[in-house]
Amino acid sequence: MAETIKRDISNKRASELKSQISDFISSKNSILTGTCEDSIKNNNENKTKILSYFNSTEEDWQNWEWQLSHRIKDVDTLTAIVNLHPREIEALIKVGKKYRWSISPYYLSLINNDEFNPIKLQSIPSILELNENGTLDPMGEEFTNPAGSITRRYPDRLVINLTNECAMYCRHCQRRRNIKGQDSHTSKQLIQESIVYIKDNEEIRDVLLTGGDPLTLSDSYLDWILSELRKIKHVEIIRIGTRTPVTMPQRITTQLINTLKKYHPIYINTHFNHPIEITEESILSLSKLANAGFPLGNQAVLLNGINNDKFVMRLLNQQLTKHRVRPYYIFHAKNVTGTTHFNTSIDDGMEIMEYLRGYTSGLAVPTYIVNAPEGKGKTPINPQYLLMKGKDSFKIRTWEGNVMDYPNHATINLKKELKKSLNK
Ligand code: SF4
Repeated sequence: MAETIKRDISNKRASELKSQISDFISSKNSILTGTCEDSIKNNNENKTKILSYFNSTEEDWQNWEWQLSHRIKDVDTLTAIVNLHPREIEALIKVGKKYRWSISPYYLSLINNDEFNPIKLQSIPSILELNENGTLDPMGEEFTNPAGSITRRYPDRLVINLTNECAMYCRHCQRRRNIKGQDSHTSKQLIQESIVYIKDNEEIRDVLLTGGDPLTLSDSYLDWILSELRKIKHVEIIRIGTRTPVTMPQRITTQLINTLKKYHPIYINTHFNHPIEITEESILSLSKLANAGFPLGNQAVLLNGINNDKFVMRLLNQQLTKHRVRPYYIFHAKNVTGTTHFNTSIDDGMEIMEYLRGYTSGLAVPTYIVNAPEGKGKTPINPQYLLMKGKDSFKIRTWEGNVMDYPNHATINLKKELKKSLNK
């Protein structure tokens, strides 16, 4: 075929591909991100207001212990910083009697005046939390606790719950029952029992530290737990689940990094839900972690009114990838009492996945997960690309919707055939 014809065909295909993302390109400018000029201005104004309210300094702001001890958790302080409708204040008082809320000054500084701002929806209680639908423990975690503060749901890995404390109590938290009335770290005795259980069970090769948020613990305490785990030969990898890069990026200090990196390989999974959360501060915390060699992943939760939108999710995953965070999971929200207003249909999740695969690089495509009831485990849900399985051929659907036959070749016995060829 002549070169010019090949080039014509290629150009026609390239313009077809270009037209397939023109809708995303034009929509993405209307999605508010944490690094756009408007957000930077808004966040700086809020920060000044908060610092002045607490009579504190920039140095305080950069100190994670100041952030943690100055979490906003009463109506007077919140309303001095954020404008709320009288009805919203009424709701806040009512909900606060039933469920705890608390917001780090940093996370609150990302809020703006939009009634449906993603930061507001994730951090400030709404009257919808009083809906009694759902259950507090839909995954039956209470029945997967063989020792100490362990949750074990899989053959070769388990979770140790270190604390119930978080920099911010997310309104969609799927472990809401653990938040209870006050912060409390798991006792040293329960952690020691967990470590003994891991020592006694050689098949455990992967330990996830979670909570609450394990990075609310001090560096020296984390050092102790990690050193104990690293004494166990069969523990190959340690993972830490933390939302601090999103809600309190000041926690990612040089001292913390130096403590953690003694115990590599440590994987860190965080929890960004919307591009508005990816700010200069959070990017700095991610780059510190990535530069120190921690593989980073993100576990988003699919949330009604926040990110159940194919373009918001695509932009979020692309931005995370840009900052060296691999989108790992999108969790379908579980039926947890007090959070069911955030639930979406599985159709929403399927549509998001449909418009990720092929439309953006595979690195930015996480696995969409439904957590099966009764602790039966993470179940991946995908749009259907295999339409029919035949003996000699399969019918497949491509990401663009082309239906095609694909040959199902019989497998040869490779080693036998190679041996035969040598003996000829
Ligand atoms: S940081 Fe995680 S554990 Fe803490 S409230 Fe948010 S979702 Fe729940």
